[in-house]
Amino acid sequence: MPRQKRSLPLAPGTRYTPAVLEGIADGERAALALPLGKRTEAGAVAAAASALARAEALEEAAVAGEPPARPIACRAGCSTCCVSKVLVLAPEVLRIAAHLRATRTEAELAALAERVRAADAATRGLSRLERAEARVPCPLLDERGACSIHAVRPIVCAGWSSLDAAACERHFAAPAAVPTAPMHRPSYEVANAVLAGLGWAAREQGLDAAPLELIAALRIALERPNAGERWLARLPVFASARDAEWQADRRREA
Ligand code: SF4
Repeated sequence: MPRQKRSLPLAPGTRYTPAVLEGIADGERAALALPLGKRTEAGAVAAAASALARAEALEEAAVAGEPPARPIACRAGCSTCCVSKVLVLAPEVLRIAAHLRATRTEAELAALAERVRAADAATRGLSRLERAEARVPCPLLDERGACSIHAVRPIVCAGWSSLDAAACERHFAAPAAVPTAPMHRPSYEVANAVLAGLGWAAREQGLDAAPLELIAALRIALERPNAGERWLARLPVFASARDAEWQADRRREA
C-alpha cells in the first residue's frame, strides 16, 4: 500500500528542517512496523507506548539542543490548555483505554465513562476555536486539575510546551481574540513527526490511521471492549470519532 504522508510543519531557523522531521517520522514508521505488524491489541498498545517514549526523548533533546528563550512553563496541575481539542491515533486511544481498565475500579470506570459521555455530547463536531470557547474540561483531569493519565497521555498533549502560563490563561479566556501562548516550537514539531510516523506505520498495515478526536474516540474504546479487535480487523470502529476539521484542513492543503 503506498504510504500517505501527512504534511509536517516547517521549522525555519532550527535544525529541525522539514527533511529532518521527515527522517524522524520515517524512522518511527520503520520501528513501529514491528509491534503493529503483530496485528494484536497488545502490539498496538506497545506501538503507542514506544511512540510516546520516543516523542518525550526527542523533545528533551530538542530543549537541550535549542534551549527556549524562557523556561518551559508547563507544570503538573496546570490544566489551562486541557479544554483544547486533542487529536489521537487509534493505538493511542487503545492504550489509554487499556490503562484505565487496568488501573480503575469498576465504579471509577463507570463514573469516568459518564464524564466522557457528557463531554462528548458537549463537544462533538466543534472546531478548535469553538472547542476552546466552550471551555469543556477534558474528562481525564483529576479533582486536583492534573492529567490522570499522564504516563499514557496523547502525544499531542506531550508535545505542547508553553513558554508563558499567563499567556495561556489570556488565550483560553478569549481564544478568538488573543493569540496562543509562545511555545517551544522544536518540541512540538518533533512530537508531531513521531505521531506522523505512527500513522504511517499503521497505514502500511492497512489500518485506519485517521486522526481521531480524543473524547469521542475514548468513548468508543470504553463502550466497546472489542474496539481494538475491530480496528485490527480493519473495520471502521472509530469512524464517528474522525476529526472533520482536520480532514477539511488536509483537503485544503492538497
Ligand atoms: S489527556 Fe491529559 S493532558 Fe491531554 S487534555 Fe486530557 S487531561 Fe489534559
